[in-house]
Amino acid sequence: MTAATFARIDAARDDLIALTQDLIRIPTLNPPGHAYLEICEYLDHRLRGAGFETRMIRATGTPGDSDRYPRWNIVARREGARGGPCVHFNSHHDVVAVGEGWTHDPFTAPLIDGRIYGRGACDMKGGLAASIIAAEAFIAACPDWQGAVEISATADEESGGYGGVAYLAEQGHYAHVDHVIIPEPLHKDRICLGHRGGWWAEIETKGEIAHGSMPFLGDCAVRHMGAVLAEFEDKLFPAMARRRTDMPVVPEGARSSTMNINAIHGGQPEQDADFTGLPAHNVPDRCRIQIDRRYLAEESYDSVRGEVEALLDGLKTSRPKFDYTLDEINHVAPSMTDRDAPVVTTVHKAIEEVLGRAPDYVASPGTYDQKHIDRIGKLQNCIAYGPGVLELAHKPDEWVGVDDMIDSAKVMAHALHQLLGPPASD
Ligand SMILES: [Zn+2]
Repeated sequence: MTAATFARIDAARDDLIALTQDLIRIPTLNPPGHAYLEICEYLDHRLRGAGFETRMIRATGTPGDSDRYPRWNIVARREGARGGPCVHFNSHHDVVAVGEGWTHDPFTAPLIDGRIYGRGACDMKGGLAASIIAAEAFIAACPDWQGAVEISATADEESGGYGGVAYLAEQGHYAHVDHVIIPEPLHKDRICLGHRGGWWAEIETKGEIAHGSMPFLGDCAVRHMGAVLAEFEDKLFPAMARRRTDMPVVPEGARSSTMNINAIHGGQPEQDADFTGLPAHNVPDRCRIQIDRRYLAEESYDSVRGEVEALLDGLKTSRPKFDYTLDEINHVAPSMTDRDAPVVTTVHKAIEEVLGRAPDYVASPGTYDQKHIDRIGKLQNCIAYGPGVLELAHKPDEWVGVDDMIDSAKVMAHALHQLLGPPASD
């Protein structure tokens, strides 16, 4: 039975290419959230044509949602001949900014030597297209299947997923779902079990403004922030580097705790490039940094936040006039699906059957929409699996390989056979 499905996937090669190109040609840039309605309408047409029932869902009131940039999502569902479990493929339809350094146009999607180039090619319109081809081929080759297949394309994953999967999860959408596969570009032979946690915060040091010629009459907030950064360098960074996780995070460097200083600002605002005046001379009374702390399953939110606060409170006692505020911007807990969860063992077997080798297990250094399915949707049977090279995501000349999309579509279809195929069909 899977042989007939695989033959249909091979025969759909041109369709797969055209579908991927069409999706890339709709420039769903986030920010600001461009053309979300257009891509959902395109998918609505495609999936209704394939026998799916569709729902267009606007995440009204979520961050960035406006009449100009509405946060549109689509969920398509097709029921089998009998009742049974629901397998849900979730892809985000938004893409990040183009940036510099492209040698191909990012939104015409040329096919060159078996690769389709463009912004979103691997992250993750190639994965979305592969999941659609896989579902269509399975349904056509296996008329007696049971349960339901769902395909969703959701907004704003690149900015936290609050207008996408988080919104669907809050509406209870994952209550009836049993298995979730997110076709992010993790390589066709790898299963991604989850991701590290993230904690984002803004720290401000306080000072007192004075004339720059008499800094002793004021209090320099930038020097206070220098003391904060010195504490981080001397204590926090070495401590984080020593911590190692059992999570199979790739790349290797992300198996430790990490922190990025996203931004720093103190003193007078920077002027526009065409400003020709000279600066006034002041002691800065405020300095701010943004930190991006990524943490491991073995750490807790309280310890991650607490160790930063402890360093800052230590400066309060050791450094005259030191004062600070700390404002949390966002927090995401780590998510890890068990290796013996049904969706994991199913896709494991599918990769063995299709590719002839056992998969590698990985976890992602950054978060993706699994966090919302886990925490809000209360479903711990979720993985990321899809075609494409993770390291190409967000880069210039991003591409996805057609052969990789075909192979991973076969893996997804094989998983559908295992989960929804008629009993003893093979
Ligand atoms: Zn992505």
